[in-house]
Amino acid sequence: MSLLYEGKAKKLFTTDRPDELLMEFKNSATAFNGVKKAEFDDKGRLNKALTVRLYQLLEKQGVKTHLVRDAGEISLIVRPVEIVKLEVVVRNVIAGSLAKRTGRPEGTVLREPIVEWYYKDDDLGDPIVNEDHIREMELATPAELVLMREAGLTVNRLLTDIFGSAGLRLIDFKLEFGRTLPDRKEIVLADEISPDTCRLWDAVTNEKMDKDRFRQDLGGVMEKYAEVLKRVEHATGS
Ligand code: UDP
Repeated sequence: MSLLYEGKAKKLFTTDRPDELLMEFKNSATAFNGVKKAEFDDKGRLNKALTVRLYQLLEKQGVKTHLVRDAGEISLIVRPVEIVKLEVVVRNVIAGSLAKRTGRPEGTVLREPIVEWYYKDDDLGDPIVNEDHIREMELATPAELVLMREAGLTVNRLLTDIFGSAGLRLIDFKLEFGRTLPDRKEIVLADEISPDTCRLWDAVTNEKMDKDRFRQDLGGVMEKYAEVLKRVEHATGS
């Protein structure tokens, strides 16, 4: 196996098959575009375990993902894809950058879910972009945008139910999509779904159960990640 790519939270390796890659989840955490950094024992295992559980549940409901199969403690086997250089954020409740951008308080429930696009570019700090910017930069075709928006809203409905059954409110989350290789014919969900990429609040207390504990120095980061995994596994059957 050779290392194909190393990102902030994951490594991607080739395997002996051209149609399979190994995605390994790291213990490192970063926030604020990589300015804040830390290592958390067990983060890789917890995020891998939640991602594979959620991908399997989504696949059952007809959502296509890059998951092929589980591959041990911190790894998944995935299909090779060309990652679309957009982060697709879906929001149900105002938090984070939307609170800053709108001046509305965190916790305000949105009338309808909001879908936002961010240009995946570390040097630029992942700026928000609109569909005209995306067309100009040729980041995705109009048809791909329609597909990703619809998939984002479908995933939002499914994840809201799954987390809801685990006593968690899905505030917002980020998705990434990839074009299947070598033909680029299909767009599938890629990357991870974990407390690193979702805001999750306890349904009763509204306690934060996600990466905001790291961003805001609230402590107990891995305890809450483990609690999220335990609750989702319990609610969806082991
Ligand atoms: N998010 C992410 N990766 C990013 C940026 C955001 O996973 O590079 C997630 C974040 O955890 C939250 C949602 O996307 O669940 C919306 O994030 P927001 O735009 O509020 O930005 P932030 O507050 O993270 O700066």
